[in-house]
Amino acid sequence: AVEEKTKIYELNREAAIFYYKNLHKRGAQALEYLSNKRGLSIETIKKFGLGYALNEWDALNKYLLKKGYNQSLIYKSGLVLQKKEKKGFYDRFRNRTIFPIFNTTGKVIGFGARAIGNEMPKYLNSPQTPVFNKSNNLFGLNIAKNEINDNKRIIVVEGYMDVISLYEKGIKNAVASLGTALTKGQGQLLKRYADKTYICYDSDVAGQTATLRGLDILTEVGCEVKVISLKGAKDPDELVKEHGKEAFIKYVNSALTLVEYKISLAKEKYNIKTTEGSIKFVQEITPILKNLKSPVEVDAYISKISSETGISRKAINKEFYGNNKEKN
Ligand code: ATP
Ligand code: MN
Ligand code: MN
Ligand code: MN
Repeated sequence: AVEEKTKIYELNREAAIFYYKNLHKRGAQALEYLSNKRGLSIETIKKFGLGYALNEWDALNKYLLKKGYNQSLIYKSGLVLQKKEKKGFYDRFRNRTIFPIFNTTGKVIGFGARAIGNEMPKYLNSPQTPVFNKSNNLFGLNIAKNEINDNKRIIVVEGYMDVISLYEKGIKNAVASLGTALTKGQGQLLKRYADKTYICYDSDVAGQTATLRGLDILTEVGCEVKVISLKGAKDPDELVKEHGKEAFIKYVNSALTLVEYKISLAKEKYNIKTTEGSIKFVQEITPILKNLKSPVEVDAYISKISSETGISRKAINKEFYGNNKEKN
């Protein structure tokens, strides 16, 4: 199986080269999309090894067969699908922009593929293969790991285009969790390269839910984690494209800690001007305070919550310490 994996890595690399060459030779429309619509420079397009899957049924399959790979291996790579009644194979990705996914040692493990127009689905991805397990890899980490400076920060975003757009604007330490909420495996991988992590997911409800999950996972694996909560843009790509690098840096600098973020969500959820709202608010956030490291921090938050809600410090203290006897 080790030999088979080596072969699939090699095949994936051939496929990535094929897609790459086709983007520059025969992918005028895709290239136009990436540069004009998405605002990417040719340097960035090349840096990420972006490519184009031809608008043909089996261009890649034919190419790989000609290169000497056998059909069963090509099938195992996930790059082709089997026709109905098993009469041959056809390419999984056709007429799409290709995003090769590398692991940290620079091997091509899989691909993402975006429609150029409005075809559905917008994105297709490689399936799970002997070399690709998306819950243990992060898109862009091969590049970000070389850009992480002394303070070892990594920004986690949702999509390929978020990573690449940020890079285009000079923010080169972003990685994408490949569409899913962050997994523990991805968290542990991040921990190997970063001390401080920032979650910057899309501003929709799905993004918020994934943020809460990501916060818990990154905290659990021992990363220091903050949340960049975007307002007025649907994702980091859109933000830097419309408002530039400096606007994004401002967001980074005002990133919220886990406790701050959860308090801000609870504030949106409850109306603390009402008695019932302030009770629910206090009951929801006191358990969150156990994430704070020092009693001084706990005290500072309790003071603040007390003055905001009008509930006494003594009562909030009791609520907090009463529920956390073993910890404090
Ligand atoms: P774009 O900016 O290109 O329109 P996006 O990155 O903002 O796309 P989202 O819908 O926010 O797209 O999705 C984030 C990520 O989730 C994508 O980069 C992709 O990895 C994954 N994804 C999105 N839609 C699909 C899909 N239909 N199937 C599989 N993965 C998807
Ligand atoms: Mn999204
Ligand atoms: Mn998005
Ligand atoms: Mn987007």
